[in-house]
Amino acid sequence: MATLRDECKVYYSTFNHEIMSLTLSNQELSSQDLIKLEDKHGAHNYHPLPVVLSKGEGVYVWDVEGKKYFDFLSAYSAVNQGHCHPKIVGALKDQAETLTLTSRAFYNDVLGIYEQYITEYFGFDKVLPMNTGAEGVETAIKICRKWGYEKKGVPENQGQIVVFDQNFHGRTTTIISFSSDMDARKNFGPFTHGFVKVAYNDLEALREVISQPNIVGVLVEPIQGEAGVNVPNDDFIPGVAALCKENNVLFIADEIQTGIARTGSLLSVCGNCNCSKSCERQDTYTKPDMLILGKAISGGVYPVSAVLADNEVMEVITPGTHGSTFGGNPLAAKVAMAALDVVNDEGLIQNARKLGEIFRERMTKFAETSDLVTLVRGKGLLNAVVINDHPSSSTAWDICVALKDNGLLAKPTHGNIIRFAPPLVMTEEQLHECCDIIEKTISEFA
Ligand SMILES: *Cc1c(COP(=O)(O)O)cnc(C)c1O
Repeated sequence: MATLRDECKVYYSTFNHEIMSLTLSNQELSSQDLIKLEDKHGAHNYHPLPVVLSKGEGVYVWDVEGKKYFDFLSAYSAVNQGHCHPKIVGALKDQAETLTLTSRAFYNDVLGIYEQYITEYFGFDKVLPMNTGAEGVETAIKICRKWGYEKKGVPENQGQIVVFDQNFHGRTTTIISFSSDMDARKNFGPFTHGFVKVAYNDLEALREVISQPNIVGVLVEPIQGEAGVNVPNDDFIPGVAALCKENNVLFIADEIQTGIARTGSLLSVCGNCNCSKSCERQDTYTKPDMLILGKAISGGVYPVSAVLADNEVMEVITPGTHGSTFGGNPLAAKVAMAALDVVNDEGLIQNARKLGEIFRERMTKFAETSDLVTLVRGKGLLNAVVINDHPSSSTAWDICVALKDNGLLAKPTHGNIIRFAPPLVMTEEQLHECCDIIEKTISEFA
């Protein structure tokens, strides 16, 4: 029988020799070498822009050849606080040398402090800590159903959750069960039942289904990020909240991408209030029954997600009904507190709002002079530029490649839409420099 060592020998002898010798001699691999490695050994579940990053600081990232770029994706809004923020990385380092994981079989000396911190920060009674965004969404779906059976009195297994066309909530089998994206679904069935899909930004469509007795929740993105930064009318989210209340249905906000200052308020559901802490007392705030957070809650240094709810909802969770080995570990807890501190300390909410206005103003003016840009839309520093071409054309991709060559990284979303979402620590001067790059690149684009 072949030993593992033998198998490794065979494997290495067939391994691309050029790259192997480079790896072994510890020479630096070029971007092309590293792209080849990913292509050969990694599943092809992404189609990255051809740039290989090796360093990040604040609003900048550098590729392995040393070229510097403005990051206009921010890891899908996970690094709102900027790359490698010293306070967040410092919290990670300190805790990593002290205690990293106990599992929830035992208490640890950080979790309770974090739970108090985050519930006060966002104004909820309780939190359930998880790791990734998709896990947060799964958690919210489970809590919502259980609440429906135990509190609302819906017959078991009959609960329905309303979701919206073009939603993006993650990649698990249950979540893709209610996706509108063919690539995300095709050949991954059978799917999970219990979801009703209605048009986004259409309160009448929601009103038609929400009074059915088995509806237990409405799961909504306050702005649809992945769908291309679809910003609903101002009355949509408050309308969803009101319809939920009228019908004894849970209003579940997925703020994984829109939350943590990205859209110029702490949460997108906060509207335009100016406070940076829990803002229950503001008129524009429509408090969700469940709030799902991920991405920037850790400043992009470590996977952290959370579901927040008040006791009436969260108390349906009892020992054994839900959990995660890593959820609520002390490393995650310390990192998340540091990341949320930074949002307040550095005024990221106010900065995102101010810079977002400047960005949209400049891009709207530019659109008037450009045949390629039809529209700019967004809120705070979550914005998108719609390119004037067929969604299946490669124009948006080609523009992103040209932007990369000119020192700015952005990624098309849904064909002909380019999302622009820099870290929120950007200065006004840097933003103008970036707008110059974008305008020049698109103007010169043939
Ligand atoms: C990214 C995202 C998720 C999924 O988060 P993962 O950490 O990738 O699992 C869910 N909902 C929204 C709105 C997102 O943007």
